[in-house]
Amino acid sequence: MAYSYEAPVSQSLFDRASVVTPGGVNSPVRAFRVVGGTPRFMVSGTGPYLTDADGREYVDLVCSWGPMILGHSHPEVIAAVQEAVSRGTSFGTPGEGEVALAEEIVARVTPVEQVRLVSSGTEATMSAIRLARGFTGRAKVVKFAGCYHGHVDALLAAAGSGLATFGLPDTPGVTGATAGDTVVLPYNDLDAVRAAFAAHPGEIACVITEASPGNMGVVPPADGFNAGLKELCAADGALYISDEVMTGFRTSKAGWYGVDGVRPDLMTFGKVMGGGFPAAAFGGRADVMAHLAPAGPVYQAGTLSGNPVATAAGLAQLRLLDDAAYAKIDAVSAELRTLVGDALTKEGVAHTVSSASNMFSVFFTDRPVRNYEDAKQQEAFRFTAFFHAMLEQGVYLPPSAFESWFVSTAHDERAVERVAAALPAAARAASEATA
Ligand code: PLP
Repeated sequence: MAYSYEAPVSQSLFDRASVVTPGGVNSPVRAFRVVGGTPRFMVSGTGPYLTDADGREYVDLVCSWGPMILGHSHPEVIAAVQEAVSRGTSFGTPGEGEVALAEEIVARVTPVEQVRLVSSGTEATMSAIRLARGFTGRAKVVKFAGCYHGHVDALLAAAGSGLATFGLPDTPGVTGATAGDTVVLPYNDLDAVRAAFAAHPGEIACVITEASPGNMGVVPPADGFNAGLKELCAADGALYISDEVMTGFRTSKAGWYGVDGVRPDLMTFGKVMGGGFPAAAFGGRADVMAHLAPAGPVYQAGTLSGNPVATAAGLAQLRLLDDAAYAKIDAVSAELRTLVGDALTKEGVAHTVSSASNMFSVFFTDRPVRNYEDAKQQEAFRFTAFFHAMLEQGVYLPPSAFESWFVSTAHDERAVERVAAALPAAARAASEATA
């Protein structure tokens, strides 16, 4: 497919990058491989806008894949970062910032009685799984197809996100021994979970699930699904781990827990809590967390864990996220969902706008999407045409039909109007696309 617009500076940066970095990027889905064309190299961000190396401005509906919930360069977050940087960047000792961030998380999310800070969502889920195995003395882990929990070896089986984008069932480099204890089940299917517990009684350490999945596109849990998982885990003595790396502090003040109130044994966080810096966390029941070193025997550590600059950014961001902020994000999300749905309907494009609180994505199918198999039935080639038409008109969407779109408090009427103006041509492009 040829594109009528060009990005010469991004192209030359991508050419340079491709020499020294595999595929030219440091995280696969950034590469535009599935949608084609040149990935945009961004040079700055302000509020709801990103500017690329060719000087073009975009309304950003990716928000760094979730973290930038206040928009880019929020003055109070930048000020907190500058203040922290002025005192030094890493000490390798405890510091007050990490205590304050942990207190903020514990105050917001009731099931989190204790929390350990790490540097990425991947580290958070990897550590939570190790802790669950150490606590229960069991090996098996249940996960759901289409859920992505970072690139943890044991959790890459039938994962969402980049693996969904590229249609990869698994990945070379993960040994049979590592993946052998992972049981992959269809999402939103409690009978399958019941059957797994029946087949492996007393062997399952934990069930890990995205609190509300956003990595196969947005596919919310069916009524009672998370509660059912909790119940089945409790009955067998397994731990229920809710991965809130994406939903945490985004879908409400207390993340998805604030929406469905199902109390996990362990939870994982990242993205929003780092304010655009590498900060993440896992936490939960105090009796389980007590098994972590140095309090207990399960080892887990990190040179940059609780980094003073990252914790300052995260804390500043969380403190600005009050009820009014969430009301604003929810309203912008609702407005955009309506605009997108109306534009596609007008052009007769089969679609489903799927949402979970303020997270949303568009499936190019009008059949219900309850799991990864359903999500894969969509006409993704229509998304490709839609994506490029939006990009050409200055709207930056995730370069994949299997990712959530994100908005921020900074997405004001002007930004929404720019999206609205781009939609008719994009919907037309989707309608005219061929496989
Ligand atoms: N868990 C979920 C639900 C995620 O969406 C992600 C990343 O997108 C991760 C874990 C991994 O986080 P990170 O990319 O910070 O390692």
